[in-house]
Amino acid sequence: MSGGSDEPLTTWAAKSEERWVQVFRTRLGPTLLLLATPPMAMIFWIVCRHLDGSLARLLDADGWRAVVAHWPRPTLTAVKIASLFAMFEYALLVALPGKTFAGPITPSGVQPVYKLNGVAAWGVSHAAFFGLSYGAGCFHAGIVWDEFGPLIATLVLFALLFCLGLYAKGRFAPTTADTFVSDNFVWDYYWGVELHPRALGVSLKQLINCRISMMGWSLIVCSFAAKQAEIYGHVSNAMLVSAAITVVYLFKFFWWESGYFTSLDIMHDRFGFYICWGVLAWVPSVYALPAQYLATHPRDLPWPVALAIFTLGVACVYVNYAADEQRQRVRATGGETTVWGRPPELIRARYVTADGSEHESLLLASGWWGVARHFHYVPEIGLAAAWTLPAGFSHFLPWFYVFFLTILLLDRAGRDDLRCAKKYGTHWDDYRRRVPRKVVPGLY
Ligand code: NDP
Repeated sequence: MSGGSDEPLTTWAAKSEERWVQVFRTRLGPTLLLLATPPMAMIFWIVCRHLDGSLARLLDADGWRAVVAHWPRPTLTAVKIASLFAMFEYALLVALPGKTFAGPITPSGVQPVYKLNGVAAWGVSHAAFFGLSYGAGCFHAGIVWDEFGPLIATLVLFALLFCLGLYAKGRFAPTTADTFVSDNFVWDYYWGVELHPRALGVSLKQLINCRISMMGWSLIVCSFAAKQAEIYGHVSNAMLVSAAITVVYLFKFFWWESGYFTSLDIMHDRFGFYICWGVLAWVPSVYALPAQYLATHPRDLPWPVALAIFTLGVACVYVNYAADEQRQRVRATGGETTVWGRPPELIRARYVTADGSEHESLLLASGWWGVARHFHYVPEIGLAAAWTLPAGFSHFLPWFYVFFLTILLLDRAGRDDLRCAKKYGTHWDDYRRRVPRKVVPGLY
């Protein structure tokens, strides 16, 4: 059903929770994802490294022989790289100075806190990577490329076990009262039981999602570009553009880190396989596919084309950031600000938390949030397309992330609509009337 229908979303929300949707969302879908995604993460590496990036070759007998012959396994080197990197990022999170940021209050009334030193950690991490490789010669900068198969295998297995640990922690030693354990183990393992688990004095979501996964992604892409230079003697402009857009996007992520703590990953999604395994294993294996593919497929684009793609990518990063920033600024100032040069159009949405107390949130109905209810997903997909364009169109594999992201974000827009409809009731219906489209104006 289209989000653009005039039917009140509260009614639609109730209808869409029919039994089969529940069974699919909480049992069938999670089981399929738990079984399919770990091997997919490994197969993508095999296809990229040993089948020339061609998924079609998997259909040949040779393709499957390659899968069996090259199935990656953890190695001591991979375990060392992953654990040293995680310890380094933990040390930076704890040791670098930064303001304390109090995140949104949870349904049980808890206000989680985070340390804002992401930009400094980004600078130190990249300086350490390039300084220790090119400067001090401690390792060569293409090391992540060389060990990538074993690294993915290590991360896949470690994260599967770690999510079991998170489940046990949630059951027996939860950090906050927001923990929820159902009678469905598959769902609890997949979705997680804790909202804001903490350990070793830090938020596990901040440490793992931001400092290990996002930081790791940026360094992985740098290592893939360095590997191309090691193999071919130079970095092609296709790789340069793809890597530069990715690194700009990830730098923006750390610049905006406090905003991330008000996003769905943090506020709503519990910390289980979906988020934790996703950021530890799926992000490196899938999100870095364009750079992984380009490392051994160097292409030199005409410079005007390369610059046009770079500009498109950075413009999408900017629009995505501007939309996130508008929403947060409007709330932080209580609406006493301007949006696109005018006073913001606001809906004062009231809601009640589990303890029965009443609260108010501001819903912005102008600026990017007046274009569509989740318009910021369009530039998110656009920037991913921009860092994939340099890989060309000969193979689908580098485009897999764009394809996956589009499904993820369309589903997310639907989930968020349901969540907000439940939270804000008629106020959300009012927003929905004013801004009828979910993602794309006039279309969806
Ligand atoms: P959003 O930024 O879409 O935030 C959704 C929440 O914002 C809602 O639950 C609601 O929370 C509040 N909200 C909704 N409408 C309004 C409004 N009109 N005015 C004010 N507040 C509103 O969350 P996401 O986590 O989906 O996205 C955050 C960022 O992360 C985006 O830039 C997105 O593109 C990116 N992203 C990237 C992904 C990737 O894999 N690359 C995946 C997902 C997101 P409340 O309860 O506070 O009202």
